[in-house]
Amino acid sequence: MPELPEVETISKDLNKKIPGLKIRDFWTDFKAGKGLGKNIQLPPDIGKFKKEIISRKILKVYRKGKNILIDLSGGKLLLIHQKMTGHLLVGKWQINKVKSLKLKVQSLVSGEMQEKVNNYIHAIFYLSNGRQLALSDLRKFAKIMAGDKDKIEALPDLKNLGPDPLELTEKEFVEILNKQKGKIKQILMDQEILSGIGNIYSDEILWFAKIHPFARVEKLSNKNLKNIYKYTRQVLKEAIKLRGASISDYRDPEGKSGGYDKIRRVYRREGEKCPLTSLGTGLYCNGIIKRIKIGGRSAHFCSKCQKL
Ligand SMILES: [Zn+2]
Repeated sequence: MPELPEVETISKDLNKKIPGLKIRDFWTDFKAGKGLGKNIQLPPDIGKFKKEIISRKILKVYRKGKNILIDLSGGKLLLIHQKMTGHLLVGKWQINKVKSLKLKVQSLVSGEMQEKVNNYIHAIFYLSNGRQLALSDLRKFAKIMAGDKDKIEALPDLKNLGPDPLELTEKEFVEILNKQKGKIKQILMDQEILSGIGNIYSDEILWFAKIHPFARVEKLSNKNLKNIYKYTRQVLKEAIKLRGASISDYRDPEGKSGGYDKIRRVYRREGEKCPLTSLGTGLYCNGIIKRIKIGGRSAHFCSKCQKL
């Protein structure tokens, strides 16, 4: 799932590309009544949804947690949550009406945009400069909604989000974690406690902080919590600089991969050697990266330097 660095990359890029343009039309293959995972999530009344967005001018694109928010003229807000495998692309597509053709929606832009991962197009916003903003989403869990800004902001999707870890001071961060109970990895990924961190970056942060993913937050020392704060910022900022991690489906709005997956330390590195070296000695930790299940997800950690 795209996490804070990936969503930050997409929203920043989009904010350079689409403000000032108008939404001319909207296409989707969404069909009301089809269940979750068989459809992207849209309001059942597509006609009403279109009325909220068509002819509106795009004012600004930004992020809250993992949500992409697009301010539209007339006090409207468009919310897109990319969920598991969704990502937004700016390009040009044509919809093939011929059933024998394999691709229903075909990219007219060459290069990375032709990559398979960018070809699961389920929604297209037609823009006034002839370009399009499209959602590619293999698993079809992404969510799109629009309406009056104050009403959308009052929905649990946004209202219940915890603060952004990059906007917190050390003191605020430690105070928030001090109020929690449970396994630290799950706490870091809980969007109502902190917004934006998911499976990849929680593993990476805990590896740097040398804390086991199952460690109980209420038993961690203040020094531990300060370390988690330090590495949360370090890891997220590093990943933003590298334009995210493209381990699975995430791509930037031009269809290009991010660079963080190449330098990731533990996430999906089960069986590999821990990359930690003792400073100055060049000696490796020699621990092996392990994977354990946690609430339906996987945690990756070094069995030697992240002891429970
Ligand atoms: Zn290690």
